[in-house]
Amino acid sequence: MGNLFENAKTRIDSALKYVRISEDAKKILSEPKEIIEVSIPIRMDSGKLEVFNGYRVHYNDARGPTKGGIRYHPEVDMDEVKTLAFLMAFKCAVVNIPFGGAKGGIKVDSKRLSKAELERLSRGYIEAIYNFIGPDLDIPAPDVYTNEIIMGWMADEYNKIRRKLTPAVITGKPISMGGSQGRDDATAMGAYFVITETARVMNLSPKKTTVAVQGFGNAGYNIARMLKNEGYKIVGLSDSKGGIYNKNGFDPDSIQRVKLQKGMLEGVYCKGSVCDVIEHDKITNEELLELDVDILIPAALENQITEKNAENIKAKIIVEVANGPTTIEADTILNKKNKIVVPDILANAGGVTVSYFEWVQNKAGFYWTREDVYKRLREIMVRSFKDVNDRKDKYKTDMRTASYILALERISSAIEAKGTEEYFRS
Ligand code: NAD
Repeated sequence: MGNLFENAKTRIDSALKYVRISEDAKKILSEPKEIIEVSIPIRMDSGKLEVFNGYRVHYNDARGPTKGGIRYHPEVDMDEVKTLAFLMAFKCAVVNIPFGGAKGGIKVDSKRLSKAELERLSRGYIEAIYNFIGPDLDIPAPDVYTNEIIMGWMADEYNKIRRKLTPAVITGKPISMGGSQGRDDATAMGAYFVITETARVMNLSPKKTTVAVQGFGNAGYNIARMLKNEGYKIVGLSDSKGGIYNKNGFDPDSIQRVKLQKGMLEGVYCKGSVCDVIEHDKITNEELLELDVDILIPAALENQITEKNAENIKAKIIVEVANGPTTIEADTILNKKNKIVVPDILANAGGVTVSYFEWVQNKAGFYWTREDVYKRLREIMVRSFKDVNDRKDKYKTDMRTASYILALERISSAIEAKGTEEYFRS
């Protein structure tokens, strides 16, 4: 993971070939605004004390309070959290919501903890960082291996410490604690609107378009379901245990039912129930990425498309629902092969956009219907796709660079509004 952050920053360098920003803005954007590292002592069920490392990074707040999820993973470290906070700053700017970027994490294998230990850890994290977050300062949300229940514990702990109800401090909460309708499948819904726009400009007809999805969790299952309902043919699916292929297409809802029963996609290889009606070939995750499909959707982890397999990717369009699934080396290869890569900071921005809606609803104390949420999300995703696509055409570049150009224009203009070296010298 060593140079993740340094690598991520090279995305800015590519965009700076096309857009001019002040030297001040470049300097400010080269490092996070502030970082905090904490030790969280937790009494385990056994009576033993364990100390966990926690992190929170505010990358940049020129456009508003910082925003970003909290990840629980054994490999979380400061380099990863800084990188993800950087991505959040650019993602919020691409969709033009009034937030900067942040991220947090705890280095923990959460599957090893009991529910009570997980609750103590989540509350302990808030006790350690409560002065570093707030509805007008920094607003956390869920990320990998955190969910709405954990957000509920965290919001409750913050309320207890502050001695007042402050729902806007955390998003992705349970609806009963001020969560938003539509937050559950917002990431997939945002990606769905972006794919619909991509298909429109490329004249693709859903019925003639094949799709493979890597990852069958919240984002992967929901995007597969939405695309199938629109007429797309979902021919490949995978999860951490392996993948399945059927040239005639799958029904993601049937697969989800089997997965819930068996705990993995491989469950479809059994005899009986839906297994008998779902024809498939077993494939590996590597094979899934290299399937001859029109659209490939990585919706699992970072660094899946690398210099090792980029030459073999046959899909014409890659939609990055996961954060950082394509390495920089792979990007260069895909661009040479004229692949369309819809980057993470556009494709998966539906999640943070509906988190913004949740924050707005909490502040207003007025709650929207699911239809209101989807309508407003669609407006933002369609407009953002157009903003990116216009820059792609104007500068004759790829979608990722165009997204960074757009984000840099917006973030730098907020930084420059406070004065630049050129202004003070003149
Ligand atoms: P999740 O935990 O619900 O699902 C992850 C899925 O990936 C699971 O099906 C898991 O089995 C699968 N997986 C893990 N390792 C794999 C491997 N090696 N090969 C194939 N599949 C593998 O997580 P999620 O919320 O769906 O998030 C998925 C990605 O989308 C992450 O990169 C996350 O950062 C990104 N994302 C999610 C949201 C959101 O709101 N859920 C928002 C923005 C970005």
